[in-house]
Amino acid sequence: MGRTRLPDKAWNYCTMVDGKSCHVCCIFCGHTMWGGVSRLKEHLAQKRGDVAECKRCPANVTMEMQEHLIQVVEEMDEKEKALLDEAIKESLQTHKMEEMKEKNEEADLARACLESVQLYEQELLMRQNGSSSRYDYDETDFDIDMNF
Ligand SMILES: [Zn+2]
Repeated sequence: MGRTRLPDKAWNYCTMVDGKSCHVCCIFCGHTMWGGVSRLKEHLAQKRGDVAECKRCPANVTMEMQEHLIQVVEEMDEKEKALLDEAIKESLQTHKMEEMKEKNEEADLARACLESVQLYEQELLMRQNGSSSRYDYDETDFDIDMNF
């Protein structure tokens, strides 16, 4: 752990597995990973690569970890920096797309509800137009009676 400078905020977001600081468990999704908090940060920052992205951590934690990773990157050379930037941008996009997908699903549901309500209203309207009676069921019953 040569590069650890200060007590890491990332420790708030994980627990040690078997008391090993290099084997940690994400408190948001329960994913366990080797590599300690530096790996956890990549996990929380949704950085694609050696570790699975966290599906459960709040957006502000993701942002916090991404900012932290960017600070670490200040020490990297330009090429590494550019690569990481790309990865972060890409993962942010995926994150947004997933959020949008969720919103779309909600919208689909709302639309489906609206459609069924509209259909119902249309049907109601048609029945009302098709008969002078406000109680169209009565008329249907009457029709059936007439057939006897
Ligand atoms: Zn996680």
